[in-house]
Amino acid sequence: MTTQTNSDILALTLAEGRRRLLDGELTSVTLTRTFLDRIAATDEQVHAFVTVTADSALAQAAEADALLARGDATAPLTGLPIGLKDVLMTRGVRTTAGSRMLDNLIPPYDATVVAKLREAGAISLGKTNMDEFAMGSSTEHSAWFPTANPWDLDRVPGGSSGGSAAAVAAQQCIATLGSDTGGSIRQPASFCGVVGLKPTYGRVSRYGLIAFASSLDQIGPFTRTVEDAALLLQAIAGPDPLDSTCYDAPVPDFSAQLDRGLEGLRVAAPREFFTDGMDDDVAETIEAALELLAANGAVIDRTPSMPSVPMALPVYYVLAPSECSANLARFDGVKYGYGARGGESMWADMEATRQHGFGREVKRRVLLGAYTLSAGYYDAYYLQAQKVRTLIRREFDRVFAEHDVIVAPTAPTVAFRQGEITDPYQMYLNDIYTIPANIAGLPAISVPGGFGADGMPVGLQFVGQRLDESTLLRAANAYERLAAWTTIPTRRAANIID
Ligand code: GLN
Repeated sequence: MTTQTNSDILALTLAEGRRRLLDGELTSVTLTRTFLDRIAATDEQVHAFVTVTADSALAQAAEADALLARGDATAPLTGLPIGLKDVLMTRGVRTTAGSRMLDNLIPPYDATVVAKLREAGAISLGKTNMDEFAMGSSTEHSAWFPTANPWDLDRVPGGSSGGSAAAVAAQQCIATLGSDTGGSIRQPASFCGVVGLKPTYGRVSRYGLIAFASSLDQIGPFTRTVEDAALLLQAIAGPDPLDSTCYDAPVPDFSAQLDRGLEGLRVAAPREFFTDGMDDDVAETIEAALELLAANGAVIDRTPSMPSVPMALPVYYVLAPSECSANLARFDGVKYGYGARGGESMWADMEATRQHGFGREVKRRVLLGAYTLSAGYYDAYYLQAQKVRTLIRREFDRVFAEHDVIVAPTAPTVAFRQGEITDPYQMYLNDIYTIPANIAGLPAISVPGGFGADGMPVGLQFVGQRLDESTLLRAANAYERLAAWTTIPTRRAANIID
């Protein structure tokens, strides 16, 4: 096979890959092997994957080819290779959540999204790197190794789903899944120049997602295009008897409205999302994106004010640690994962297990959460944060009474350098624009919105109404078509590695 053909395959979207497989222009084995070769050639530098499942991927690809040859490939993602964040339980495949605590966990069951992707015919290439238990914004908090940004290997890919974002940007797979508790899909998508979608809370089952903060966590896709995000969401969305927080609502056809364009779309750009904390290069890029939207039929309203939105970050850093301290209590060295043995007592072993098993950031959050939930401080912190959460939700409802989508930056800066941010509070500021959507449970997407300092990608964020991913995807797709960044970022990112 010529190099030209290879680079053509590596840049494929799910939609185009599906077409070629159905037309017999390509086999799933060729497709899968091309991506596995790419991983082998580039992951020494990128470190996007914790585990690569080459043998099972090729076996699944051969099965997919048999179905395709028989004309039986009705499942929508038949034979298409994807990657999974290492926080998703995969039966028989090591799942670590980026933590020494789960160094040797081989799950006995699949997360619902993993089972759904298999039913949809997709092929898993392996598990992608992440900040430990999804706590972080740079993938430097993985217990294993940091992941590099394919655009500039000295920089971070964002986090916590940095491996999933980098894998798509480095053309190691067509699409991946990540999880987003405060921005962990959208911020790395922004840093790596790819599309990242966080669905409405409850749209996608969390069963088999190793929990960080259960009232905020959502699983969603990383893709090259908005169209692909709709396709992947379609495959994973829907009610699940195994997750009682999952909406019973019917799942619409997420691709149906993609091409409706911007005409008459009511777009709010609330003041609080355009603050001084943003770097100039990002601000300029976002302004240009707003002008492009306005020039093509969107009605941009800059007057809405959401005074509680600046409180979303402090609210998150009370609620998320509180929930994480409860969720991570299960890692006691007895039930699963790493367990220290031979101490003076059961308590000593438990202490030693956590001392060794958890990294610094996880310990910091557990301590913070234990404090905010303690009898003496519960009212002052946790309860207060819940009340402000309600205010933030109401402010979104008010804006959505008169607008279809909100537009905002995804992150205040472009990707920063490895090791550049050591102060945890500065790291937390990365999610200042993404956290509000998690607090309110709303769907939100980051799409490539241009380039900032040093030619690094800048993401543009759209936030939608609860359960209205269709309008969100319509707006994002219209912008993507206008801006046409879609193919440029992957090519340029790939060049850096080649
Ligand atoms: N960076 C945020 C945090 O560290 C968000 C993480 C996430 O969305 N999983 O909590």
